[in-house]
Amino acid sequence: MSAKTIFQKIADKEIPAKFEHEDELCVAIRDINPQAPTHILIIPRKPIARVEQMQPEDAAIVGHLVLTARNLAQKLHLTHGFRLVINNGRQAGETVPHLHVHLLAGRDLDWPPG
Ligand code: 5GP
Repeated sequence: MSAKTIFQKIADKEIPAKFEHEDELCVAIRDINPQAPTHILIIPRKPIARVEQMQPEDAAIVGHLVLTARNLAQKLHLTHGFRLVINNGRQAGETVPHLHVHLLAGRDLDWPPG
């Protein structure tokens, strides 16, 4: 069994964090190094390392992360738009090997991304 990631410790409340949302499948926290005025991480309780490691039975969990992001966007009145990002692997910018969805909003976001 590999060591717990920082996100696992946060979800397990071993490290204190303010949850923007929590339920039986996921927690949501503000990013420590925000890249936009709103930058929230939606983290599954199940420690799936990254999209590459998803199993078919994880589809409902990842779908739930997307719906949770949508619900947070509504709650926070992100009416001008928002972006969801999942980084997979080093070249994509993944730094924590525990799958998570970034919810970014509050400024014009470039396309293509940097
Ligand atoms: P990744 O690069 O893996 O897609 O995203 C990891 C994100 O987690 C980064 O945006 C980083 O700023 C954020 N992060 C890393 N450690 C912590 C932490 O301890 N607390 C919070 N709130 N965010 C963190």
